[in-house]
Parts: sequence; structure tokens; C-alpha cells
Amino acid sequence: MAEHYDVIIIGTGAGGGTLAHALAGSGKRILLLERGNYLPRELENWNPRPVFVDGRYISKDTWFDPDGKPFQPQVHYFVGGATKLYGAALYRLRPQDFGELRHVDGISPAWPLTYDDFEPWYTQAEQLYQVHGNGGEDPTEGHRSAPYPWPAVSHEPRIAEISEGLEKGGYRPFHAPCGILLDEANRPASTCIRCTWCDGYPCLVHAKSDAEVIAVRPALGRDNVTLLTGAEVTKLETDPGGRVITGVVVSRDGDRAVYTGDIVVVSAGAANSAKILLNSASDAHPHGLANGSDQVGRNYMFHNCKAVVALSKEKNDTVFQKTLGINDFYFPTEDYEYPAGNIQMIGKSNAEAMRGEKPKLTKLSPEWTLSDVAGHAVDFWLTTEDLPLPENRVTTDADGNVHLSYQPSTWT
Ligand SMILES: Cc1cc2nc3c(=O)[nH]c(=O)nc-3n(C[C@H](O)[C@H](O)[C@H](O)COP(=O)(O)OP(=O)(O)OC[C@H]3O[C@@H](n4cnc5c(N)ncnc54)[C@H](O)[C@@H]3O)c2cc1C
Ligand code: SF4
Repeated sequence: MAEHYDVIIIGTGAGGGTLAHALAGSGKRILLLERGNYLPRELENWNPRPVFVDGRYISKDTWFDPDGKPFQPQVHYFVGGATKLYGAALYRLRPQDFGELRHVDGISPAWPLTYDDFEPWYTQAEQLYQVHGNGGEDPTEGHRSAPYPWPAVSHEPRIAEISEGLEKGGYRPFHAPCGILLDEANRPASTCIRCTWCDGYPCLVHAKSDAEVIAVRPALGRDNVTLLTGAEVTKLETDPGGRVITGVVVSRDGDRAVYTGDIVVVSAGAANSAKILLNSASDAHPHGLANGSDQVGRNYMFHNCKAVVALSKEKNDTVFQKTLGINDFYFPTEDYEYPAGNIQMIGKSNAEAMRGEKPKLTKLSPEWTLSDVAGHAVDFWLTTEDLPLPENRVTTDADGNVHLSYQPSTWT
């Protein structure tokens, strides 16, 4: 007979891991199913070559484009999900983001919920993820019912200089909100050592506010929470009416196991959640589970972003660079009538990361030239919103593989 739980949560990333933490205190029997394993703690965590050039922590998964061409989707299957490698920039959306926004390529429609609906939950999440920031510095921010739990991470001299320069130029730079376990008032006791290997790397000393460290591990301290790693959910089975999930089918080490739960949460990431629901098609749900609307997998949105590297004569010796944000172009301005998005910093560039990001461009460059460029570079990260186009979607084929159709929008 299948093992029964009150709640089954599929995926342990930002969504599933945080939910497990929130529910753990209820005493309910909770099962976490995670296809990945714990990310190994090893020196390679902080080495740009294995991380960026060799793709050591990227899954072997293969997805397909609309022409059936296979590609490697650069996803991370670990306890903690994508947050194991994330940049820990923990921004709230702005109140206007929940309304209709006119972009250069079309309309981003209004959400059925508002910023005010989310505000108390943003506050709770900021407390849990120990976000460092200075509320009120960024004029685009919505209201907050509580300050950030930690003061903002300080600028290093070169970034402070840039921030002052921007202010003199009439811009309103602010300290970027960030989820690292850094105690600047007590550096010897701080979990975070403020190193340069943060953005895009796993944290060797478990000082990044990722879902494993912040949410999953503490939840597992309770007897009512169980985690199965290497457990890939392949299908949800339902009763003949198709309204009740009767089994969560798992593939683990080549074996098939089935679990049941009163509540089943699908939080396997945007594409994999759609994959699970679409692959759960049955006579009751011929187009996939919860897909009577034909919406599952549609309106796929991407991370519309670009790194911009500014070179100056001055050396940039910054170690932890992700401390500055600029939202002066987030909404329409006098010079540009559409929202352009957020500017923040990325982790300090180095020769290997440049090689990993742009292998063709850097192929003929000797190591010293890239190191010299990186030594003078100030590295910005530009992010804007793409449109939730219905034709941008995840589908699955007869073998259950993910096919992704995606046309970029709002690039100009
Ligand atoms: C390099 C990088 C940097 C980023 N930087 C930032 C940042 O600075 N700030 C920010 O806000 N966001 C950032 N993000 C994005 C952020 O990490 C994601 O938006 C967030 O993790 C999504 O949470 P999720 O729970 O939906 O999915 P995930 O975190 O991806 O978690 C999904 C989990 O489900 C598991 N899973 C998938 N399929 C199955 C299955 N069939 N059965 C069982 N388990 C399954 C996966 O292994 C994974 O653990 C970054 C992402 C990356 C990759
Ligand atoms: S800066 Fe802190 S959180 Fe980031 S990798 Fe280094 S020690 Fe970890």
C-alpha cells in the first residue's frame, strides 16, 4: 500500500522549500520529493572554471526547441533548487508591476492580486531569508509593514564612488537587497565571509540565504517532515472523475514508488511543474491535469537580462560587488516611454567566468588579457520584464520530454 502523508510537496526550491518550512510547525505529516540530491560541499563550489566553464552543477537534462532540436536547459536539480546557485538579490516587485504595464512590444496585463495582497508575505519572506537592505532609499519601492531585518550590505570603495557619482548625476542609486548571512557589525562571528564567489556559485560555507539552508534543513529538524532525494515525480494519478489525486508516482534509482497525500503541491519550477501536469494526462484529463483551460505551460516568461561590463582606467578591487541598484529607468521616463527595468551589479567578473559566459568571443584571448579586463571592469546586470505571450509555452512529447517554444520580447 502507498505511504500516506497529509501534504506532499514536489520540489525543494524557493517555492517548495519555503512552503515546507512554513508548514513544518503544523505537525502535519509532510513529504518532500526532490529529484536532485544535496549539492556537494567541495572546493569546486568556489572555483570559476568548474562552475562556469565545465558546468559542474548544471543538470544533464535535455529539452527540445520547437524544431525538435535538443538543448541543455541550464537547470539545477538540488535540494534548494535554483537558489543553490542564485545571486541572492531579493527584490520585491513594485506596486505598479501588479497592474497593467505598457511595454515596447505590448501589454503586460494586470494581476488579479495587488501589491497590498502580497505585502505581508513579502515581509515574512524577508524575515525568513534574512534580507539585508535599507528601506526607503529606492523611490520605486512600495510601502513596507516592517523594515528589512538586517542593514544593507555596505559598498566597497569603488562601488561607493560609483554610487556617489550617480547621485551627483541626478540618479537615485540604492543599496541592493541581498540574502546573505553577513553580520558586518561582528565579522569574526559572521557566517558569511564576504567573498567574491557568490553570484552563480554555490556557497561552500552555507552562508547564502538559499532554500536548503534557510528552509529545508530547519524543517527537517522536525519529526513530521521527511525528504526523499533522487526522487523524480513522473506523474500524478487521479480517481476516475479526475478530481482527486490518488497517487504521486516517483522514479527513484530506477524503481517506481507511489505516495499518497491529502494535499499535493506541485512546486518543481516553471517548466517542470508544467511537465508533471501535462504528463499526468488521463481519460478524465486528456490534455493534462488541471489543464481544462489549456493554460498549463503557457505564458512562459524568461529572465530577460544582459550583463554590461564598463571598463575604466581605475582598478576595480571590489570583492562582493552586488551592493548597488538603480531603478531610475524601471518605469517610463521623459526620454523613453516604456518601462526599462532594473540595473544591479553582478558578482565581480574574472577571466574564467568571462570564458564560460562567452566561449566563442573569448576563445583566442590569452588568460592575462581577460584577467586585466576583469581587473578594471565594473559589472552591471540589466533586467527587464518580457511579455507573458501565450505562444511562449512548455509542451511535452509522447516520451514525456519538455519542448519549449520561446520568442523573446521587450529586448529594445
Ligand atoms: C544562476 C541563477 C541566479 C539567480 N539569481 C536570482 C537572484 O539573484 N534573485 C532572485 O530572486 N532569483 C534568482 N534566480 C531565480 C530563482 O532562483 C528562481 O526564480 C527560484 O529558485 C524558482 O523557485 P522554484 O521553487 O519555482 O523552482 P526551483 O528553485 O528551480 O526549484 C524546483 C525544484 O524542483 C525540483 N524538481 C524539478 N522537477 C522535479 C520532479 N519531477 N520531481 C521532483 N523534484 C523536481 C528541482 O530539482 C528543484 O529543486 C536565479 C536563478 C539562477 C539559475
Ligand atoms: S559572499 Fe557570503 S554567502 Fe556569498 S558565497 Fe561568499 S560566504 Fe557565501
